[in-house]
Amino acid sequence: MLQQVNGHSSGSGAQGGESLREDLQEFLSGEAPLHQLDDLTKVNPVTLETVLRCLQARYAADTFYTNAGCTLVALNPFKPVPQLYSPALMREYHAAPQPQKLKPHIFTVGEQTYRNVKSLIEPVNQSIIVSGESGAGKTWTSRCLMKFYAVVAASPTSQESYKIAERIEQRILNSNPVMEAFGNACTLRNNNSSRFGKFIQLQLNRAQQMTGAAVQTYLLEKTRVACQASSERNFHIFYQICKGASMDERLQWHLPEGAAFFWLPNPERTLEEDCFEVTREAMLHLGIDTPAQNNIFQVLAGLLHLGNVRFAHSEDEAQPCHLTGDAQCENRLPEDPLLETLRIRTIRAGRQQQVFQKPCSQAECDTRRDCVAKLVYARLFDWLVSVINSSICADPASWTTFIGLLDVYGFESFPNNSLEQLCINYANEKLQQHFVAHYLRAQQEEYAVEGLEWSFVNYQDNQTCLDLIEGSPISICSLINEECRLNRPSSAAQLQTRIESALAGSPRLGHNKLSREPSFVVLHYAGPVQYHTAGLVEKNKDPVPPELTRLLQQSQDPLLKVLFPADPEEKAQEEPSGQSRAPVLTVVSKFKASLEQLLQVLHCTTPHYIRCIKPNSQGQAHSFLQEEQGDLLKVPRSRPPAATPLDSLQVLSQLEACGLVETIHISAAGFPIRIPHWNFVERYEVLRRICARTSSGPHSPSPAEGHSERSPCTEAATLQAVLQDILHTLPALTQAAATL
Ligand code: ATP
Ligand code: MG
Repeated sequence: MLQQVNGHSSGSGAQGGESLREDLQEFLSGEAPLHQLDDLTKVNPVTLETVLRCLQARYAADTFYTNAGCTLVALNPFKPVPQLYSPALMREYHAAPQPQKLKPHIFTVGEQTYRNVKSLIEPVNQSIIVSGESGAGKTWTSRCLMKFYAVVAASPTSQESYKIAERIEQRILNSNPVMEAFGNACTLRNNNSSRFGKFIQLQLNRAQQMTGAAVQTYLLEKTRVACQASSERNFHIFYQICKGASMDERLQWHLPEGAAFFWLPNPERTLEEDCFEVTREAMLHLGIDTPAQNNIFQVLAGLLHLGNVRFAHSEDEAQPCHLTGDAQCENRLPEDPLLETLRIRTIRAGRQQQVFQKPCSQAECDTRRDCVAKLVYARLFDWLVSVINSSICADPASWTTFIGLLDVYGFESFPNNSLEQLCINYANEKLQQHFVAHYLRAQQEEYAVEGLEWSFVNYQDNQTCLDLIEGSPISICSLINEECRLNRPSSAAQLQTRIESALAGSPRLGHNKLSREPSFVVLHYAGPVQYHTAGLVEKNKDPVPPELTRLLQQSQDPLLKVLFPADPEEKAQEEPSGQSRAPVLTVVSKFKASLEQLLQVLHCTTPHYIRCIKPNSQGQAHSFLQEEQGDLLKVPRSRPPAATPLDSLQVLSQLEACGLVETIHISAAGFPIRIPHWNFVERYEVLRRICARTSSGPHSPSPAEGHSERSPCTEAATLQAVLQDILHTLPALTQAAATL
């Protein structure tokens, strides 16, 4: 297959052979239109624009997967393509002697990892890193891959083991709707946007059967519970309970029909993600029975009521704020202590740690209310993940290898970026570095081992950006952490000044010229991002007033009792008072530690990369880009339907962000293809015949000449493929080909 051949694209043709080269190119491109190029290394020349054009042509031809050297590019079809994900097709890829000879697909990657695990004498764990911007299709892709493994890794020998396998796979698949209901939300970019990162480890035994799985999650965007950007929504589960509850349940959960909640914006939108029955069914399969579910939904309803509690200033400053709004928030917590704790702060001060009580301002009351909601929801989410894990995790003795699937939030840049974006983009920098370093190192080491002549390929290293963000002794993270540790009042402008002066030497620190808001700019590999410093330190501290935790610990609700056990260690997490110097475990520190753990796991695996691309920002099917970018995009053969010029720029920036052209260049300059000898002979044997013909003088061969075993059509196709390969790399042979 052509896709296996190294697509050198930077060489020049034979001297004096330009017209021949052009003729051949025309001939070749006429026969192999862009949409048939299964590997972007074959695009010539390799530039952002030509790559874009090729992807565009393939998209127009309903071809959504394309190889890009060592990676797979996945275009989001934004429409159901059931035949592309049928179990029959999964089995076809699984059964194929050489799946890479089939059309590019996520199943090729899936099958490759599955074979790698078993084919090696020493089994090696595998990982698939799915990346792309919000709405590009990462979660969809990982879901499909999980289904793929559920099909191919279930080939049990006995009826009994079949049942076990089915049960485990079904549970693993059931973890998706539950995690998506509680961890996904409708955003401006994606109706089903994951608001957490996820690494799932599919565990296989020696017989290649899936015996279990383990899920690790990263940084849930818990602020969403209490604060949703305009036109966005809260987590799906809140809408699900409000829409899907029966009359009895409404009574039980205190959710009257048509009740309005501040924390439930845009409830009128109906999304497929609102399917409550699917969530409940999946929870049941994971071992969360109906009473436990009722308890969860009651707590969630309680949070919605809590969001309706509003505060008003008291005339007398010595008095706590008045309470307005909803009176039902007490349904899971005793009313008096809750309302009191939200409005009155407890302060310990002095050598004796005397306790003082101070009424909170209206803004403080709001913050404390939101804090309770975030705390409860985050703990509920973590608890669900632990329940899922205990339901799907295999006995460590029952598995030997694993395939890891990583679905993390993609690079983000909004008009207002804060700590969440800093963490997300930091994670992406880490993963990009892992990709570049791993791929280049592995490849170049292999050349050295094989004794090949090879000059080292330089690549853009984003280490300087990582140094800026996480380096030691001084970095953005360390400076933000330092502010938290000192626990001193400092303004957003001061933090900006500190960062800009302490890190002035970094080539990755940009200049904040546009914004009047205090901010700093990081020149990420995927582009500059401006982070506002207001609220950054507070978010990093993520303080939880101890009296709020204590209040939750006193609840008689069975679920809250599990989520908030009376644990003396809680004190270590408490907000440090003026006197306390207990080390604060900041959001950034925790995130950094979990990232390092993830990277350690990834380093012990053979990684595979899937780059998801969003062809338009509206989430429309059949829409890629149409407008030509000046001279950049020359007439696509099959012009796709309309989209805005902005789309094309957005697609270009996605290609840039994942370093696709760089990847293709590396793949094309290197030797990414290993063709077995017999395969090579079969394929290039046609050249021997051409050479034989040319050496006996030019003549016009009859169609049947020398083609006793193969049809002229097959031979022509092979020849065309071969010529494509050699066009730039074997100039001498173009002379021979000219006699055709
Ligand atoms: P986020 O970072 O916001 O979580 P994401 O990259 O995980 O985004 P997905 O939720 O996987 O994005 O995809 C967004 C939507 O695109 C899906 O809900 C689905 O409608 C559609 N989609 C993605 N991939 C496919 C596909 N292969 N076939 C059909 N539809 C798809
Ligand atoms: Mg997602």
